[in-house]
Amino acid sequence: MSTYIFESNKIESILDFIDLETFFITDIDDTLIKAAQIIGSSHWEKHLIRRLIDQGVELDQARSRACGLWKQIQKLTNVITLEEGVFKLIQFLKKHSIPTLGLTSRDCDLIDLTFEQLKKVDLHDAFTLKHAPQTLEATYLCHFARGALFCGNNAKDKALKVFFEQNNLNPKKIIFIDDQKDHLYELEEMAFHAGIDYVGMQYTASSPENFSVEIAEIQEKHLPNIISDEDAQKLIQN
Ligand SMILES: [Mg+2]
Repeated sequence: MSTYIFESNKIESILDFIDLETFFITDIDDTLIKAAQIIGSSHWEKHLIRRLIDQGVELDQARSRACGLWKQIQKLTNVITLEEGVFKLIQFLKKHSIPTLGLTSRDCDLIDLTFEQLKKVDLHDAFTLKHAPQTLEATYLCHFARGALFCGNNAKDKALKVFFEQNNLNPKKIIFIDDQKDHLYELEEMAFHAGIDYVGMQYTASSPENFSVEIAEIQEKHLPNIISDEDAQKLIQN
């Protein structure tokens, strides 16, 4: 049994690790899709949390309010993929019949919207796990639907453990990609305790370097219209 975590900004870097015993797990936001502009992105959500804390709001409250705003923008925004390579990866997984599970911190009330967003970039069939839709017996609300686990406030490893137990799944090897390192470590620990081989890749294609507070604020002012980063940049320069 072995565990290994590495980092790459190319999604296809994971291909070398996949074999026929692999149970493949992928995050959604900043891994398969991201908002087409700064507002609505995960980096923007983190910025909102920091801004609320600076205003004296408690961390839990700040997180919950930022998440609420992020959700509202998801209803308005277009999404894009991070790399063309994602389609090659999904095709490879399908060709070799590798079971593939989506694992997201999105709340259950975003299931339909999430699949609408994935459909826009032709990734709505990316998750091949065919188990029936189900509510998990987890600490917080958690649903499995259409091949993806919507963890909400549950830690990803905890939700996954319950899902495996509820469905009698005993994978020999897990491969997981996520842009957030802490999730990779959570699953590594879970895999270690369960005696499952594990490879985790921190996918760094969505870099926070392109985040701009000025652009985010212009975009916030124009809501409910969503203006592009380029148009916001022009407004700043004029
Ligand atoms: Mg993510």
